[in-house]
Amino acid sequence: MSENLKLADLLLPDIDKTPDYYEALYPERDLKEGAKVVRVAPSPTGYLHIGTLFTSLVNRITATSSDGIFFTRIEDTDKKREVEGGIENIIDGLNRFGINIDEGFVSGKEEKGVYGPYQQSRRAEIYQTYVKELIRQGLAYPCFCSAEELEETRNVQEKDNIRTGYHGKWAKCRNLSFDEIKEKVEAGLPFVIRLKSPGNEENKVVFDDMIKGKIEMPENDEDFVLLKSDGIPTYHFAHAIDDHLMHTTHVMRGDEWISSVPKHIQLFRLLGFKVPKFAHVSPIMKLDNGAKRKISKRKDPEAAVHFFIEEGFDALCVIEYLMTIAASDFEDFRRANPDKSYKEFKFNLKKMSVSGALFDENKLLDVSKNIVSRMSGKEVSEKILNWAKEFDNEFYSLLSKDTAYTEAIFSIDRDCAKPRKDIAKWKEAKDYVSYFFEELFTPDYTLPENINANDAVAFLNAYKDVYDENDDRQAWFDKIKELCPALGFASETKAYKADPASYKGHAGDLSTVLRIAITGRRNTPDLCSIMKVMGKDKCMERIDRAISSML
Ligand code: GLU
Repeated sequence: MSENLKLADLLLPDIDKTPDYYEALYPERDLKEGAKVVRVAPSPTGYLHIGTLFTSLVNRITATSSDGIFFTRIEDTDKKREVEGGIENIIDGLNRFGINIDEGFVSGKEEKGVYGPYQQSRRAEIYQTYVKELIRQGLAYPCFCSAEELEETRNVQEKDNIRTGYHGKWAKCRNLSFDEIKEKVEAGLPFVIRLKSPGNEENKVVFDDMIKGKIEMPENDEDFVLLKSDGIPTYHFAHAIDDHLMHTTHVMRGDEWISSVPKHIQLFRLLGFKVPKFAHVSPIMKLDNGAKRKISKRKDPEAAVHFFIEEGFDALCVIEYLMTIAASDFEDFRRANPDKSYKEFKFNLKKMSVSGALFDENKLLDVSKNIVSRMSGKEVSEKILNWAKEFDNEFYSLLSKDTAYTEAIFSIDRDCAKPRKDIAKWKEAKDYVSYFFEELFTPDYTLPENINANDAVAFLNAYKDVYDENDDRQAWFDKIKELCPALGFASETKAYKADPASYKGHAGDLSTVLRIAITGRRNTPDLCSIMKVMGKDKCMERIDRAISSML
């Protein structure tokens, strides 16, 4: 038996399969020509990050645009960084945002698909099988260097201005003989398995990143770790094995991985795998005192997707906003197709920002207002109820007391040709509709400067006698106009403008007085509708209350 074969058995005695076994177990996918197989591969280290949601969206829409597959894979090889409930946080978060998952973890608990397990901690034997094969071929070897020894090497390299890492003459364990290795293994010394890199730093590796374009980097000559001493792979190795066996065609991930691509291409080639296409997504940036920087987990609340949920942004609004960041031509699509789902947009990776788009909250609010304005009153009221149930008990108990009333409130100025673009996020709704609820009503009865209290009171008293809740908008406003002459106001704005000295004001001013009396504010949706929803009794009560505070 050759030394390499003996070495492979010595280091991984329990591995009895060969790669052929897995190649047969995970055959090519049967998909139509051009279908892209993409994935998101989160580590369950906390909450769903906005960057992960963004990358997932880009992956999802790429799969959708090509009738391909979007799958999830949990990269949990670093047990120290894992948090309880990490998988649920991320996968359920994706579901909440409508990112449909075809395969892999489709919920926090449920896995689907025949290319699994989709969790790296359950794939140890697969990785070890491929490592064993590399050892057999003389392409991997054990390294017994301790953390202290590696640190020492690093210090020397740094002092002498040499590129740090386990390469060239610094790769101390590279040339250990079989007998030396055997002795150490039998003595129970822990070891990692390293790649015996055939790369040369002088050579270039070139690849065409689908977002960033052509990239050229030195070949990898570092004998980087494939398997850690506990038999668990590093990211690089697991990535190559998994994306090969799961038949990923396009690896789309955060651009912090670009510098590792030479290692990855090398691994794919040495293992005899087809190299996938790469697309490195730029992070979402933020302006901080005029300087652009990555959204940071530590500094920015909006790094956590949960922030948007708590603020009451509808999932679709966030996604629609992320689409405007993802594709420079998305807004043209939206203008031309106001009613189509974003899923119908033909996504092209070439239209992605190379340097990282800025997160712009005002833009998000704007996009949201547009989308919410197109929702029906029923939809809005249901969504607000759901949100309040989770985040605002007081509001929830008011809204749920009479859901027909709630729906009527949120139907005002909606379901019409020009709906009011008012609410951007559910958190704003409470203040926006507070005057409908006695418990929340905090009126400001300050009158416009040109109206004195006596005139306001005289108008309100007269109005009480004529209000009819069956009047339509026109009749409603006509009633106000009819009261104008007797009070010294112009019925028509035009007449007032032509001769302002002859009038105290115009009908519009009196409707403002009525608005203040009913709602305690100057700016609201259509007042006639508000009064109908409130009902005559409440309106009369409100007018009385206003009169007594104005006197
Ligand atoms: N687990 C890696 C990360 O969270 C995934 C990178 C990839 O998509 O390949 O960054």
